[in-house]
Amino acid sequence: MEKDMMKKYARLVVKTGVNIQPGQTLVVTSPVDCADFARIIVQTAYEEGAREVVMNWGDEITAKARYLYAPDDLFDEFPEWRREFYLSYAEKGAAFISISASDPELMKDVDPGRIARANKASRTALKDYSERLMSNRNTWCVVSVPTEAWASKVFPQIPGKQAVDKLWQAILQAVRADLPDPVESWNQHKQTLKENMEKLNRMQLKWIHMKNRLGTDLKVELPSGHNWLGGSELSADGVEFIANMPTEEIFTAPHRKGVNGRVVSSMPLNYNGNLIEGFSLTFRDGEVVDIQAEKGYETLKQLTDTDEGARCLGEIALVPYDSPISNMNILFYNTLFDENASCHLALGKAYPVCLKGGDSMNKEELENAGINDSLIHVDFMFGTEDLEIEGMTADGQTVTVFRKGNFAL
Ligand code: ZN
Ligand code: ZN
Repeated sequence: MEKDMMKKYARLVVKTGVNIQPGQTLVVTSPVDCADFARIIVQTAYEEGAREVVMNWGDEITAKARYLYAPDDLFDEFPEWRREFYLSYAEKGAAFISISASDPELMKDVDPGRIARANKASRTALKDYSERLMSNRNTWCVVSVPTEAWASKVFPQIPGKQAVDKLWQAILQAVRADLPDPVESWNQHKQTLKENMEKLNRMQLKWIHMKNRLGTDLKVELPSGHNWLGGSELSADGVEFIANMPTEEIFTAPHRKGVNGRVVSSMPLNYNGNLIEGFSLTFRDGEVVDIQAEKGYETLKQLTDTDEGARCLGEIALVPYDSPISNMNILFYNTLFDENASCHLALGKAYPVCLKGGDSMNKEELENAGINDSLIHVDFMFGTEDLEIEGMTADGQTVTVFRKGNFAL
């Protein structure tokens, strides 16, 4: 990929994504394989007035070696200094950019139990940090750049380097960085997302009911005072930012006890280097009571066993079937892209900001209002071209939210 295209993308991430403020610290989490792009991010952030850019390098190949060869008791530990690293920068008001580019099947021969325990240990240690981000007390943005391993999974019929180029093109198109003025294009995009969002916020639906031919037949109650969000968000200090690039969704929190029926996945889910495919979840009074999966059952089971809240939903997101990313017809094996091509749900923690006043409520107040809490938040896709969604208003009227996979409001 040419340097000036990467620069354009980096500027979009730094300015529109986290919206770096003069004198602010930026923490960048990046795989070593994405160093070229990470370095451009660093330079751009300094040009835009960052005080310091702190690099947090990761490498999934060495992470895999650790999973395969380290002693078993290691996977319940998480070093205190790493907790301190994230939390101290967050408390000083840093912005966080994270580059997501994992090889979808790297961890397939690793014991899923080890991965589940390591995730639990890190999520427990980093709970205060992630809570700050999920309630927008810090600005943050997740983006992607291709790696050869990832690109080869997305385009298996194309040789490595060409696959990387093709994935670059798809990513730049998905984040509108290929357009003449990406920042202005994002301003328009944010407005479009806000239209359906505002309609749904005015309706304050009691529940929505989703159905398709794959077998999804799920009724989701929405808490009173719920808030649909989409496009940009505001930090506690009033800084506008975009948490995910791309983003095509509008989303809110389901009532943690008000989910009934069955949802069938419409895309594979890459969860930390393991693919979960052809799966369905059955809910009763908010909780998963049955799990089926053609592939990755053990990973999915371990995920829902993380804690009590991991069996309940923390997000319902609506994405039209005819959205730009969906129309590319590419299965990215990366949730950041696939979730923006399809309606999705998330198991685990809900965003407190999905409830009016939720960002200043404590754990109990949120739970009583129906907002789920968990160490995990994992999105999975169920949208299809024949998806129908009906909703019911407070005065008992039925409205059509989705017809044939698209908004019908
Ligand atoms: Zn989402
Ligand atoms: Zn989510």
